[in-house]
Amino acid sequence: MEAYQNLSRAQLEALKARLEQDLAGYRARGLSLNMARGKPSAEQLDLSMEMLDVVNSKSDCHAEDGADCRNYCDIYGIPEAIRLFAAYMGVEEDEIVICGQSSLQLLYDALCRAMLQGVLGSDKPWGKYEHPKFICPVPGYDKHFGFCKFVGLEMIPVPLRADGPDMDLVEKLVAGDESIKGMWCMPKFSNPFGACYSDEVIYRLARMQCAAKDFRLFWDNAYSYHVIYKDHPVLNMLDVCKEVGNPDRVFLFGSTSKITMAGSGVTFIAASRANTEFIKKQYAVQTVGWDKMNMLRHVRYLKSMDNIKELMKKHAAILRPRFDAVLGTFDRELTGLGVGDWTRPDGGFFVTYMAMPGCAKRIVQLCADTGVTLTNAGATHPGGVDPEDSYIRIAPTYPPLEELKAAMEVFCVAVKLASVEKLLAA
Ligand code: PMP
Repeated sequence: MEAYQNLSRAQLEALKARLEQDLAGYRARGLSLNMARGKPSAEQLDLSMEMLDVVNSKSDCHAEDGADCRNYCDIYGIPEAIRLFAAYMGVEEDEIVICGQSSLQLLYDALCRAMLQGVLGSDKPWGKYEHPKFICPVPGYDKHFGFCKFVGLEMIPVPLRADGPDMDLVEKLVAGDESIKGMWCMPKFSNPFGACYSDEVIYRLARMQCAAKDFRLFWDNAYSYHVIYKDHPVLNMLDVCKEVGNPDRVFLFGSTSKITMAGSGVTFIAASRANTEFIKKQYAVQTVGWDKMNMLRHVRYLKSMDNIKELMKKHAAILRPRFDAVLGTFDRELTGLGVGDWTRPDGGFFVTYMAMPGCAKRIVQLCADTGVTLTNAGATHPGGVDPEDSYIRIAPTYPPLEELKAAMEVFCVAVKLASVEKLLAA
C-alpha cells in the first residue's frame, strides 16, 4: 500500500472524504464499546467460579497452623498461602507478606509509608525532601503516575524500550541526585508496552550506584505468568540484588487479580528478609488481619504452581484470538501506510499503538465520537501528557471478540483519518 506521505493533496482530500463517510457508517450502527481499562473478560473470570465453592458454610475454615481464618489472626498470611505465593514470586517464605486484595493497594501503601516514615535505611521520610523524585519509564501505567502525583513525588520520565528502560540515562540520574528515591519497573509484559527486561538491564538496575542509599525499585510484576504467545523468562530480581550485594534495593509486588478475580485476588509484597521485617512492623500498626478467608479460598482452589500454570494456559487460549484480532486488523489495514507502528506483545494485557506524532488525541476523540471508548491519549505518560501525542493503549482483553473486531475497524479508520488530517494541515 502507498504511504500517505506520498499522496498528492487531491488524493488526500478524496481519501479524507471517504474515511469520514466510513466513520459516519460506523456511527450509524450505534456502537457502544468500552476498552478504556485492562479488565479480564467475563470468560476469564468464569474460569475461576469453582473457587467460590471450595470455601462455603460446610468448610473447615482453619488454616494449616490451626488459625481460624474467620477471626483476627496472623497478619502476614496463612502458612499455605505464604508457601504457594512465595513459590509464585520465587522467594523464601520469610521474604514475603501476603496481605490485601489488589497489588495497587500495596503499591500505594508502600509509597505512602515511604513518604511518611521512609524505608529501611532512610535518614528521614521521603516526604521530608524538598523535591523527592521517582523515575518513571514511559510509556507506563497511569495508576503508577497517579500515585506519584498524589503523594507528592516528582516524576522523571525515562524512555522504555522493548528490553527495558534506557539504562544509560537511569544510571546517570540516580548517581547524581539523592532525592531520586525510587523507580517503577514492570519487568515482564509491561503495561502497556509489553517490554520484558533483559538480563543486562536487570543487572544494571541491581548494580547501579545510587546517590540515595534508601533507593527502591518498585518491581510491579503483574504479568509474570501471563503468556499469550511465547514466554520471555525474566530474571528473579531479588536473587540478582542479593548476588550483587544490594539485597534491600527491591520491593516485588504481585497479585492474583489477572489469575482468578480482578480486584478480589490475593496480593503480596516480597523483599529481602530485612525489608520484610521492616514492612511487617509497619503493617502491624495498620491492621490486625487481612482477608484470610480469601487466602484460604485461593490456596484451596489454586493448590500448586503447576495448577496456576495450567490455569494461565486457559487464560491464554481466551486471550489469543483477541490479540490476533487486534494485530491482524492492524496488519491488514495499516501496514505500509506510514501512519504509525504498534507493539507485538507475547503476553500481558495490552498492545501499544504509536500514531503519527500529533495524532493520538484526535484518534481517541474520533473513536469516542463513534462509540468506541479507549484509554485517554496521554495516559501512558506522567501527568497525562505525551509530548509527542503519539501513544495509545489498546486493551483487547475485556470486550467480546465480535465487539473487539468492530472496535478495531473503527480504530483503524480513525487512525487513517487523523493521519490524513495531519498531513493536510502540514
Ligand atoms: N500493576 C500493573 C502493571 C497492572 O497492569 C495492573 C492492572 N491493570 C495492576 C497492577 C493492578 O493489579 P491489582 O488488581 O492487583 O491491583
